[in-house]
Amino acid sequence: MFLVSVVFGVFVVVRTEVLLKWLRVLRSLAEGYPVESELRGWSWQFPPVRPRSYLGLAVQDAASYCPTKRDVWLRRVAGVRVQPTPSMKLGSVVHDVVFSVVSVVRKYVSVGLDFEKLSRAIGRAIELKSRECPSDECVKIARSIGWLTYYTATSEWLWSSSGVIPTPATAALSEVRVDGSPIGLSSSLRIDSLPIPNVVVDIKTGRKTEVHELSLAAYALALESTLETPVDFGILVYVWWNSSLQVDIRGVYIGPDLRRVFLDSRDEAIDIVLSRREPPKAAECPQTCPYLEVCEHENTRS
Ligand code: SF4
Repeated sequence: MFLVSVVFGVFVVVRTEVLLKWLRVLRSLAEGYPVESELRGWSWQFPPVRPRSYLGLAVQDAASYCPTKRDVWLRRVAGVRVQPTPSMKLGSVVHDVVFSVVSVVRKYVSVGLDFEKLSRAIGRAIELKSRECPSDECVKIARSIGWLTYYTATSEWLWSSSGVIPTPATAALSEVRVDGSPIGLSSSLRIDSLPIPNVVVDIKTGRKTEVHELSLAAYALALESTLETPVDFGILVYVWWNSSLQVDIRGVYIGPDLRRVFLDSRDEAIDIVLSRREPPKAAECPQTCPYLEVCEHENTRS
């Protein structure tokens, strides 16, 4: 099977109890179908993990959403630059709001919680980030996810201080930088969160796609190449608006099949850049692709 994952529908940012429930499910998958050492990031000196060339690819190149990988060619060979689309801006605002709220909570927790001051600081942080929104819906999502993150972070902190849970969500490392160069990726990859060293968390605002699971494999292999420690589990957090804020959390086992698909996809991207071969336009393009106009124009010319 290409991808092994299970879905729980929940309406919170990742709480510790949700994470632990997922780990129970994913661990049993890992025990039934473990990852061989040759597919670990620490095997970066040998194929199949060793890349044909070290091009410093972005995760979006190695795990491209374009069915023909034409976006890789446009970005890295043709040098096409496009403006961020509304959905890209939404993604960026959601990330900024979540990390800004977590860092404000952390700051106040370290000097003793004063909830009145803290909630005012959170309100200011959320409004500041929401100003970058391209639409009213984005503002609603930004405010809702901001306050949800605040309630999750503070309640976890209170629970952990009373010994109910071992580690609060706010203690998780967020926006972690990792060197992906041993596996042919950028030396400065950014992981949304590492709640536990063998779990990567990625927050998404677009439609669900299997490509997101390839991104988790990229981060896991990059971490393994640096930390020499297995990273087998991923959590995808999907955020969208449907009359109210919706959040769905999906656990992913970063197993042998997913790793192989990722490595093939990375190698295909490297081949496109090295050969400079122009891939055809895809038969079906995601409507959120920032290159829609560029590819349409090329079609009209031909
Ligand atoms: S418009 Fe279609 S073919 Fe062009 S890059 Fe996007 S997905 Fe690929």
